[in-house]
Order: sequence, then C-alpha cells, then structure tokens
Amino acid sequence: MAKEALKIWMALPTTDRSKILSNVWCSDCRGGVTMCDYSAEFDGGVMVLRGFCATCGHKVARVLEGCIEPLKKMTYSSKRKGRKSSR
Ligand SMILES: [Zn+2]
Repeated sequence: MAKEALKIWMALPTTDRSKILSNVWCSDCRGGVTMCDYSAEFDGGVMVLRGFCATCGHKVARVLEGCIEPLKKMTYSSKRKGRKSSR
C-alpha cells in the first residue's frame, strides 16, 4: 500500500506538497520544520507521511486527513484514461 499512498501523494500539486512538507511539527525542535527522506503510507484509513526533520534529524510524521478522498478519485480517473503526461 505504500506505493499507492506515494502515488496519491505525488498526485498533489507541488506547491501543496512543499507547503505540507515545510510545515511539519518536530517535537525536538518544538516548531515547524521541513521533512526530508519521507515516505507515504496508509495508516488506519489516513495517509501518513513519515520522515526526518531537516533541522535535527528527529523522526517526524504528518497525517494527511481530508485530502485523501478527492485524491483517490483523482488517481482512479487518471488510471482509467491510461495516460500520464508526467514521465
Ligand atoms: Zn527537529
């Protein structure tokens, strides 16, 4: 399922992704940091991004709620077309 989650994540506009990735709470830095080396997966019906704090390297996670349903529809409709403009 990790691949599917990553696919949905990658379907998000780049601006949205960078906005989410640059606003992750790090318990070590006690503030919003940028997540790096992240991976996406489904956890209990929600998508979770797990990665590391770009500042201190602490493990961080970001739950993506609410944006999953429209995204699922998006990937399904693009699958049906069988065409991808990217790559
Ligand atoms: Zn940190």
